[in-house]
Amino acid sequence: MIWFFDLDNTLHDASHRVFPAINANMNAFISGVLRDAGLPDDSAAVDAARVGYLRRYGATLLGMVRHHQVRPADFLHAAHLFDDLPGMLRTEPGLRALLTALPGRKVLLTNAPQRYARDVVRHFRLQRQFFQHIAIESMHVHGRLQPKPSRALLRKLLARQGVPAHRCILVEDTLANLKSAKALGMRTVWMTGYLGASRATAGRTPHPAGGAGTAPPPASVAAKTTKRPAYVDVKVKSIRQLFDSLPSLLGK
Ligand SMILES: [Mg+2]
Repeated sequence: MIWFFDLDNTLHDASHRVFPAINANMNAFISGVLRDAGLPDDSAAVDAARVGYLRRYGATLLGMVRHHQVRPADFLHAAHLFDDLPGMLRTEPGLRALLTALPGRKVLLTNAPQRYARDVVRHFRLQRQFFQHIAIESMHVHGRLQPKPSRALLRKLLARQGVPAHRCILVEDTLANLKSAKALGMRTVWMTGYLGASRATAGRTPHPAGGAGTAPPPASVAAKTTKRPAYVDVKVKSIRQLFDSLPSLLGK
């Protein structure tokens, strides 16, 4: 069995401090790009660009690349500048031991950039828990950047692992990514522990920079009360809780 683990809001609570900081960084960067192009750069224009590109292309980054000739590396670097990343990170107790105890090979699969992913993994001392890191820089298919939920990307990753899709499990907070995985025959785990009831984007909170946003959900939707969609095999509130579902998840 091969496990693909998302990073943000799956292995740690990114909504707590990290995502707000990334959003602020992205706004500053987008504003600068618009200003340099002689376009309006007020907060309304910045919001329109950030949200508009997220909806249209599935990632703000892709819109900035396409319409403003931004280099992905520059955008990702600017979005992930933190004064004190370790101080912003928190996760569930015993995460390292839990990952170690899960049977099978684990791969980190994140729409975040490599350096940030590495820093987070190191902070939680999970370096040895992951066989491989796949970050957004290595999500090119046919020469184009195609982050999650790209089915072409997942298909390529499955082929590279050399195992059939049904022997692979994706653990994720973002529903669009799980939907793609299930369409290819993978098993799916929806991690909702960091999608609080007050967070209106439950299940649709992609990594802000490279993420895979779908249409905005109704404000009343919350992960804790949302029914498990048909393409989700198992819904858990923590990695610890995943162990309760292992027999059914692995037995399928
Ligand atoms: Mg996530």
